[in-house]
Amino acid sequence: MEPLVRVPVAPGAHFHLPPALEGLRRLAYNLWWSWHPRTRILFSRIDAAAWARYRNPVPLLQGPVQWDQLLDNPAFLAEYDDLLREFDAYMANGTDHWFARHHGEALDGPIAYFCAEYGFHESLGIYSGGLGVLAGDHMKTASDMALPLVGVGLLYRKGYFRQTIDADGHQEHAYPDYELARLPILRALDRLGQPLTVRVQLPGRELFAAVWVVQVGRVPVMLLDTDVPDNDDSDRPITHMLYVRGREMRLHQELVLGVGGVRALRALGLDPAVWHLNEGHSAFLLAERARELVAAGTPLNRAWPEIRRNSVFTIHTPVSAGNERFDGDLVRRVAGPLLDGDGRPGTGGVPMAAVLDLGRGVDEDPSQFDMTAFSLRLTTGANAVSQLHGHTANATWQGVMPHDILGITNGVHTPSWVGQPVRDALERWTNADLDLMDDQPAEGRFWERVDKVPTRELWEAHQRQKLELAIFARGRLRSQFARHGEAPSTLEELEEILDPSILTIGFARRFATYKRASLLFSDLDRLARLVWDPDRPVQFIFAGKAHPADRPGQGVIQDIFGRSRGSKLRNRVFILEDYDIRIARFLVQGVDVWLNNPRRPLEASGTSGMKAAANGIVNVSVLDGWWDEGWTGDNGWAIGGRETSPDEGAQDWADAQDLYRILEQELVPAYYERDAQGFPARWTQLMRNSIASTIWRFSTTRMLHEYVERLYVPAARAAAEPEPAPAEAG
Ligand SMILES: *Cc1c(COP(=O)(O)O)cnc(C)c1O
Repeated sequence: MEPLVRVPVAPGAHFHLPPALEGLRRLAYNLWWSWHPRTRILFSRIDAAAWARYRNPVPLLQGPVQWDQLLDNPAFLAEYDDLLREFDAYMANGTDHWFARHHGEALDGPIAYFCAEYGFHESLGIYSGGLGVLAGDHMKTASDMALPLVGVGLLYRKGYFRQTIDADGHQEHAYPDYELARLPILRALDRLGQPLTVRVQLPGRELFAAVWVVQVGRVPVMLLDTDVPDNDDSDRPITHMLYVRGREMRLHQELVLGVGGVRALRALGLDPAVWHLNEGHSAFLLAERARELVAAGTPLNRAWPEIRRNSVFTIHTPVSAGNERFDGDLVRRVAGPLLDGDGRPGTGGVPMAAVLDLGRGVDEDPSQFDMTAFSLRLTTGANAVSQLHGHTANATWQGVMPHDILGITNGVHTPSWVGQPVRDALERWTNADLDLMDDQPAEGRFWERVDKVPTRELWEAHQRQKLELAIFARGRLRSQFARHGEAPSTLEELEEILDPSILTIGFARRFATYKRASLLFSDLDRLARLVWDPDRPVQFIFAGKAHPADRPGQGVIQDIFGRSRGSKLRNRVFILEDYDIRIARFLVQGVDVWLNNPRRPLEASGTSGMKAAANGIVNVSVLDGWWDEGWTGDNGWAIGGRETSPDEGAQDWADAQDLYRILEQELVPAYYERDAQGFPARWTQLMRNSIASTIWRFSTTRMLHEYVERLYVPAARAAAEPEPAPAEAG
C-alpha cells in the first residue's frame, strides 16, 4: 500500500519564479522548512529583511526579489540544489522507517487526526496554546516517522487574538485578518480537479466550507473555511476565530470540524483505518459516521459499535468542568436537521435522543451534551496526556468509559525546539542526529551519551542562546514601552537589562488562575532581596495570554505588569506581550530555569517544560502533569510534595514558601558556583541531567510510538476483525 496520504492541491499561483528556481515553490508550501534550519537560511539569503519581517517564505517569494543576483550566485544555487534534493528525498522516502518496518502492514488506510487547533510555526496563527502546539508536533513527528496520517482542522482567518498590554497592565485584544494568499496553504482539489468544498446542513440552510491544505512534511492537514461567497453573510465568520465565545457559533464550528471533516475525507476518496479525536471538539465526526452507516442501511444499534471499533480519543483536561459542553436543546435544534433528517420519521437519520443520551456527562445532567463523554462512549481506546492525568481522568470518567483511559504522556518535536548552538554541541558529542530521533533506539541510546558534552562547550552554547533571548526581549520591551509613551531615558535603560550573566528564570503559559503565575509575588520583600542580591542576582521573564473572556486571568497579567514596573522589582521582572511559538522558542532556549507552579493536579501535562529541558534548561515545578514523572531528583527541583491540601490558601502559602526556600538555599547557590576554571560545573551537570532524562522520554517520537502501538494498531486490528454482535450503545 502507498504509505503516505497525498491530497492534490491547486498550484500556488501567487508569485512567479525564475524557472531555474521553481523548486522554491515546493519548499515554500511545505512547513518542512520550519524544522529545517538550513532551508530557513536559504530563504533569508533571498531577502534578509523580508525574511525577518515575515518569517514566512510565501510573502517573501512574492517579492520584489533581486532574482538576477541570486541566479549569478553559484554558492546560493549550489545550496538550493542540495536542499531541494534533500527535500525531495525526504518526501519520496517513507519505507525504511520504524513504522513501516514494524507496523506498515497493520493499517489498510490512513489515520485521520482531528483537532480544533494546530501550532506549527508562528507564521500560521491557527493555535492558541498547548493543545495546538501538541497537535503541530504530532504532525511533524508523524511526518518524520512516515506515518500514513492526515490531519483535519479549521482555518481561522482571524486566528486567536494578538495580545498587547497597555500602560496600566490591561490586556488588549486585536484580531488579525490573514491574507490567504500569504499563508502557506493551498486549495485541496476534488477527484475532478476542482477546488474542494463540502456542505454541512444547518437549520434552514446549507453551509459551505472550502478545504485548504497545509503540507507538514509528508503529512497533509486539511483546514476547513466557511468564509466563502456561497454562505450567508452571518455564516461566513463561523471559522474566523479560535474558541469563539458564543455557544451557538462554537457549536457551528464543531459541526464543521467533525461533520465537514469526514465529508472532506470522503470527497478525496480516503477511507481511514483509524479515527483519532484529539480532544472532544471534533466529536460530531462520530455522529456523522453513524449517520453515514444508517443512511447505507446499517441499523443504528450496529452502527455505534462499528464506528467505536476504530476510533480513539485523547482527553486533555483533568476536571469535568474543563470539558466542552453544550446545552442539549441547542444541540437538538442546531444539529438535528443534519443528523436526524429534521427528526421526521423515515428520513433515515440518527435520532437526536440517541445522540444526546450518549453525551450525558458524569453528573448525569440531562440538559447538557458533553463532548468528552460522547467521545469516550464511542471510542475503543482513550488516553490521558500524562501518567498522573491518567489517574485523575479515570477517577473522573469512571462509569462513562467502558475501558481504562491509558496514560500516554505528551512530548515535543525535538528538532523544532532545541536551539542550534545546543543542538550542535549535543549532536557532536553524542553522535546523534535529532532529525532521526525515530531511528535512534536501533543505534543505541544517544541520550545516555549526553554526559560526554564538555562543561565549557555546553555552557557556551547555552550562553549564546541566552544572549539571543536578551537581544530579542530588549527589542520587544522597547517597542512596548515606546508605545506606552515612556521617556527616551527609560527606553535607554532597556539596553542594559537582561544581562546574560544573571540567573534568568522563565515563566510562560496561559494565564489561567490555576497556574498561579502570581505565586512568586507572595512575599515581595523576600523576592526583592533575592533579585537584588549584589553577588547572586536573579531576574524573571513572564509571558502569556489570558482568554478574552477570562477576567481573573487578565487580572493576573495586570498584577505582574504592575510589579514589573513597581519600585521593588523594576528591571528584574519583565513581562513580554503576545506569547506565541516564536516567543516560546526564545524562552525555552534562552532562560536558565523554567518555573511552573500550577495547583496540583490541574495541569494535565504541560509541554513547555519539556522543550526547556531538551535545551538543558532546569525545571523547577510543582509535581503536576509531566513533571510528576519527569523529575528524577537530580534533574531539577520539585516544589512541594504529592500531598495537596483541600484548603487552597494554605496550599498556595506552603508552595510559595517552598519555592522561596529552593531558590534561596539550593538553586541560586548551585547556579553561581564556579569551578577552578571559572565554569559552573555543578550547574552544567544539572543541565546534562535535564537533557539526558527528558530528550527521548518526553519527545513526540516516543509519544507516537505509544500512540501507534497502544491505540492506532489495536484499533485498526479490531476494525479488521469480523463484525461485532449487535449491542446497545452505552
Ligand atoms: C509549548 C507551548 C504551550 C504549552 O505549554 P504549557 O507548558 O502547556 O503551558 C503553549 N503555548 C505555546 C506558544 C507553546 O509553544
